[in-house]
Parts: sequence; structure tokens; C-alpha cells
Amino acid sequence: MPTRNTVLTGLKICRLCGALNCESNKQCYNCAWHGDFDPDNEHVLASLRQSRDNRSRTEQTGKLAGLLVRVKKLIHWRREGSPHPPS
Ligand SMILES: [Zn+2]
Repeated sequence: MPTRNTVLTGLKICRLCGALNCESNKQCYNCAWHGDFDPDNEHVLASLRQSRDNRSRTEQTGKLAGLLVRVKKLIHWRREGSPHPPS
């Protein structure tokens, strides 16, 4: 099992857009930057933490969007006056 440090040293940060890239990437997968990358472990770790936070925020937004769709269906159902509520 890889330790935290071997995972971190396998990563680097694009200096142009800040995206995390594999050490083996010749150019940034996000913006195609192919110059100097930031291999600093602390920066990589901070970037990992930030992307984790962004992901949980995205999940919350997804749940809210699902709720909105359901509310819209219910409003539509009530307007239509059909006998069965939407699933
Ligand atoms: Zn980039």
C-alpha cells in the first residue's frame, strides 16, 4: 500500500491553472500547460484537500437540484389535477 508521501510525490500542480497532475504528465490535463510544474508536497496536499471540499459541495448541489426537480413535478401535478402524484 502506498504511503501518503509516495502518493504526494506522484503528483504535481500546474502553475498556470492549479490543477493536480500525475508526475508523469508532460502537459496539464486541464489547460495543456507544458512548462514548469509545482511538485511541492505541501501544495499538493492543500490542493487535494481543496478538491475534496469542492466535491462535497458539488454533491450537496446535486441533492438540491434533485429536490427542485421533484418540487417542480409536484407543482405541475397539482396544476394538471391528475389523480396520481408523480413518483
Ligand atoms: Zn493547467
